Amino acid sequence: MGNFSYLIFKKGDAMAEIKFYTGENIPLELHKVKIVQKLDLVDVERRAEAIREAGNNTFLLKNKDIFLDMLTDSGVNAMSDRQLAAMMIADDSYAGSATFTRLTDKLKEIFDTDYFLPAHQGRAAENILAMTYVKKGTIIPMNYHFTTTKAHITRLGGRVEELVIDEGVKTTSSHPFKGNFDLDRLCSLIERERENIPFIRIEAGTNLIGGQPLSLENIKEVSRIARENGILTVMDASLLQDNLYFIKTREESCKDKSIREITREISDAMDIIYFSARKLGFARGGGIATKRKDLYLKMRELVPMFEGFLTYGGMSVREMEAMAVGLDETMDEDVISQGPLFIEYMTDELIKNGVPVVTPPGGLGCHLNALEFIPQVRQEEYPAGSLAAAVYIAGGIRGMERGTISEQREEDGREHLASVELLRLAMPRRVFTLSQVKYAVDRIKWLYDNRELIGGLKFVEEPSTLRFFFGRLEPTSDWQDKLVRKFRKDFGDSL
Ligand SMILES: *Cc1c(COP(=O)(O)O)cnc(C)c1O
Repeated sequence: MGNFSYLIFKKGDAMAEIKFYTGENIPLELHKVKIVQKLDLVDVERRAEAIREAGNNTFLLKNKDIFLDMLTDSGVNAMSDRQLAAMMIADDSYAGSATFTRLTDKLKEIFDTDYFLPAHQGRAAENILAMTYVKKGTIIPMNYHFTTTKAHITRLGGRVEELVIDEGVKTTSSHPFKGNFDLDRLCSLIERERENIPFIRIEAGTNLIGGQPLSLENIKEVSRIARENGILTVMDASLLQDNLYFIKTREESCKDKSIREITREISDAMDIIYFSARKLGFARGGGIATKRKDLYLKMRELVPMFEGFLTYGGMSVREMEAMAVGLDETMDEDVISQGPLFIEYMTDELIKNGVPVVTPPGGLGCHLNALEFIPQVRQEEYPAGSLAAAVYIAGGIRGMERGTISEQREEDGREHLASVELLRLAMPRRVFTLSQVKYAVDRIKWLYDNRELIGGLKFVEEPSTLRFFFGRLEPTSDWQDKLVRKFRKDFGDSL
């Protein structure tokens, strides 16, 4: 695998096959815009004021002050005309709705699963899985944790073992599948702890390391090892669509397979597939699919208890119709290539300008490496959080801090410094145009050229849990005023 380069596999991309006469290499949208939302771009003085009002926490910004919202890809992807049309035929009945049957049939067609347990979103599916399989002393091996996943497992006294390959946590790499399991470590963990492991969790498009995929080969190996040891395989398929695209374009042995064939090979290797439909299927909601009746029956009663009746599970039937169509569209390479190709474009443009980013580009968004962007800001002064505030001031662009602020303090109150300080700029699917992405690149480049002006942050209100959602901070100096003055000097009266 070491000699893979993601650049080699660009050729097979659906979008990138369209060559420009001028030789320019840009992703061409294979959709047109039918509904628009007007955006406001407030001036730099207002942006500095707005981030102050928000306690320098991008979660607390108001949407009216934001130009490009790159906080997340969750529940904010653009829907297609077919999805919106399907929402109109939703069958709103408490039990036995035709909408549920259509969704279950679509899952059967794609994953060959006979049973589906609906849930109101991805973390609710995780709650059901954890309540069924996790108790004190349980160990759940996984390539990498996700915040809500880990919370449900540890809440019940279980423990997470992360087994991603070493390359996975390196910020710059050319490895095409940074989300792969380290199979040797998986085998030795199983040897030691076999009876404490009910299932192995395989996270497609590994979120917290930058939307990085696993290879089909690695998925199959994990499944083989699990089955030899009588352990279940559970896929978190929330980010499967990007992973499918990367398997098709980066894995030599899969380049002639269809997206549907690859999906079927993955689902054949899994006992349970769960997902957040805020991401997979471009809608809202979630659920758990399986081929096995025994597993279905084991989890079934938790759905009416915590979610809603078995044929809606807390979701609106309109969202379920949109999800069924969205899942169908996920099998279309032209549809699923849009996110990764825009992210790759943004990442490549930033690299050309010398900006430190996570490579290779993954599926969720573009990630700036704050430790290299602003080495003058010590980790105790939250570089990723500072960079999030600075990027907002520079361009009205909202990203998400993924660094020390997102960690929790040690029991004794000491700061737990994160292993990486990243600013995630998510790319909701089919939402932004290329000129908006170019604008983001331009403002980030300006910021990079003025990086010595950026300083740190300190907490003024620090909640003891989930501080990244609600915490408030202030700058450690007047660096934000300096940044505004420099912006005015360079851009005149431009917004
Ligand atoms: C978003 C996400 C979840 C949680 O889903 P929600 O719908 O937000 O509850 C779980 N796993 C992964 C990998 C995710 O990206």
